Amino acid sequence: MAKKKSVRYICPCCYGSIDLSQIHYSCTNPECTKAFLDTCSASELRRYGSRYKPDEEIDVEKSEYLGLDPRSPEAITTREHIIRGSVNGSCDVCKTRNTVKLCPKCHAPISAGAEVNGTTIFVIMGTEGCGKSHYLASLIKRIEEIYPGEFRIPFTPASEKTVLKFDRDYRNRVFLEGKCLPPTPSYDITETRDPLLYELGGENHALHRMVAFLDTSGADLDLGNKLSFLNVSTYISGASGILFLVDPMQLPRVRDRLGLPTVEDQFPDMADTLNYISDIIRDKNKLRSKDDIAIPLAVVLTKVDLLMRSANGAEDEDALFGPESSLHIEREHETTDTVNINQVGAEVEEYLRRNAGQEFLDEVNKYTTHQYFAVSALGSDTAEGKLIKGVEPYRVEDPVIWFLNSNERRRWF
Ligand SMILES: [Zn+2]
Ligand SMILES: [Zn+2]
Repeated sequence: MAKKKSVRYICPCCYGSIDLSQIHYSCTNPECTKAFLDTCSASELRRYGSRYKPDEEIDVEKSEYLGLDPRSPEAITTREHIIRGSVNGSCDVCKTRNTVKLCPKCHAPISAGAEVNGTTIFVIMGTEGCGKSHYLASLIKRIEEIYPGEFRIPFTPASEKTVLKFDRDYRNRVFLEGKCLPPTPSYDITETRDPLLYELGGENHALHRMVAFLDTSGADLDLGNKLSFLNVSTYISGASGILFLVDPMQLPRVRDRLGLPTVEDQFPDMADTLNYISDIIRDKNKLRSKDDIAIPLAVVLTKVDLLMRSANGAEDEDALFGPESSLHIEREHETTDTVNINQVGAEVEEYLRRNAGQEFLDEVNKYTTHQYFAVSALGSDTAEGKLIKGVEPYRVEDPVIWFLNSNERRRWF
């Protein structure tokens, strides 16, 4: 039988990353469970036959996911026969083709749209302290406003887990309490390394898909931190887009030109950091060391609200975006304003050539599809962990509009 095209999907229930050619199905024929148990071998019967509910089969995967012993009276059992190892859903008992698809790890149902388009994964990366979590907080909030409002495409959390996580870890603190977020913890310290999952488009929308956002911490890229590294590297190498955040206040040349105090612990080099990420992708995706990378890359200059002004006194205007900068021109709404995106992109690229160096741009050029962006997650400076002037995100949505709309623009708008 022909092998199905491999599409990655992230389960909104267990957050497992799944190859959609490996899913399970459940059979709707009420006769199949009994017929299956009647034909089971002795070892299969030990695994799937229930002493407590002889008419039902044990749902081993769901029981284990819920932390229940499949042999105990509490185990999850079902009258809907579970089909494992079928490429098209045909039942191993009655041969009927079934459409009820299940996550192979937790047996939560898989939505219809997901099977075609899988999950579009965006991974947010950058050095420690570059503002990844604030960026993610503002980004989700803006997409929730823009996609339904401006582009008339629904964008909703895929599960209650995502609603709770976004509210608890991001929205409440930043937008309700006006406080800064703590640094993103590493994977093995907390369970927070689950992606935030959203559904884009409705059930009948041609591009109905799951969109996952993953906030990473610097420690996630530490090889010594194995669990975290494995998880994050899997997401990075399967990503539909990487957002690499560059904090201008971590660039020694910018600090120098703006007369800011030098920092004792030197900030990590941007070219080295990006090169490290590129190596992980090449390694996972079996590319050679000089190969270009096909995953689209958005290089996102953060905190630009601090740079969008005229130079004063001894400052060097090379480190700022003055009044004549294209960053002041508003993006045209209800469309993908590629002219504006390209104009801002060219200016940010030039800014980084001057302030981060050609070596960094050379690393970026190894990504066949890339663009430069300028954003501000908070829109104003912070003081002692508080967002004193409230939150006014600036252009945080541009990279996602570019990712989603540049591939699909014609069909979307
Ligand atoms: Zn699952
Ligand atoms: Zn059946």
